[in-house]
Amino acid sequence: MSVDIESWVHRPVFNIPPCEQTKQLDEGHVLKSSRIILKLFKKYQTKATFFILGTVAEWYPELIEEIKNDGHEISIHGYTHKGLGDHNRRSFDEEIKRTVSILKKYGVKPLGYRSPFFTRADFLYEVLKKNGIVYDSSIFPIKTPLYDGTSYDCTPFIIDHGILEIPCSILKIKKLRLPVGGFYLRLFGRRMNYYLLKEIEKRNGIAVMYFHPWEILDIPENIYIGNGKKIKLPFVKKKFAYYKIPMIKEIEYLVKKIKFTNFKGAVGHINETLLG
Ligand SMILES: [Zn+2]
Repeated sequence: MSVDIESWVHRPVFNIPPCEQTKQLDEGHVLKSSRIILKLFKKYQTKATFFILGTVAEWYPELIEEIKNDGHEISIHGYTHKGLGDHNRRSFDEEIKRTVSILKKYGVKPLGYRSPFFTRADFLYEVLKKNGIVYDSSIFPIKTPLYDGTSYDCTPFIIDHGILEIPCSILKIKKLRLPVGGFYLRLFGRRMNYYLLKEIEKRNGIAVMYFHPWEILDIPENIYIGNGKKIKLPFVKKKFAYYKIPMIKEIEYLVKKIKFTNFKGAVGHINETLLG
């Protein structure tokens, strides 16, 4: 089970300039929604990996403590929420270093990384290795307007620089690739998602679930940024931005029926898979 800890202000659909993606705009949304998730996980004894954004860790350091105290794993999702296409080696290295050092203050040494929007770059694995990261989960083996992961499957494998790659999950049925989690959970529904997770686990020895805190709590309808400018979305984008949010019931359905663990806890299974 994985949760990408970022605010709705970081979502590309709203197209909010990075300088306006602030704690003031978030208004405690990511803290509140993350706490709902922690409570739910506690109720069903779910253990998860939280890929936290450095900015969110800075806004709400109490959240780092709360995730840690509940026995979950903390990994990283970058500092800003820029895709890797908007980075060069140096700027990406700076982001990773900065986020690792924020977490270090709270006694957390992150082992894993997931990129924003499942984007990738040729310097990705080299920089992760340099910063003590041992696994990555930035591959989603599907094609969307933001990335194309179709040259990959979802079984974990060793990628460049000895990094363990744990892709997000898909179920392959002939030419079809059915993805799990996040938007696809909202799209396909809970029963379908449950079936996919079980079937993928059966085939690959591991299935990866993921979602975001902004998916489980209502997002503000009217968004105003600097100078009182209102964010306006065309009809279709607006439908997409708020589609079946909040989906807390969907998550509850899954954690009630499936015993999830964090990535660190799944490494034994991954080794078995890698060794065949
Ligand atoms: Zn993200």
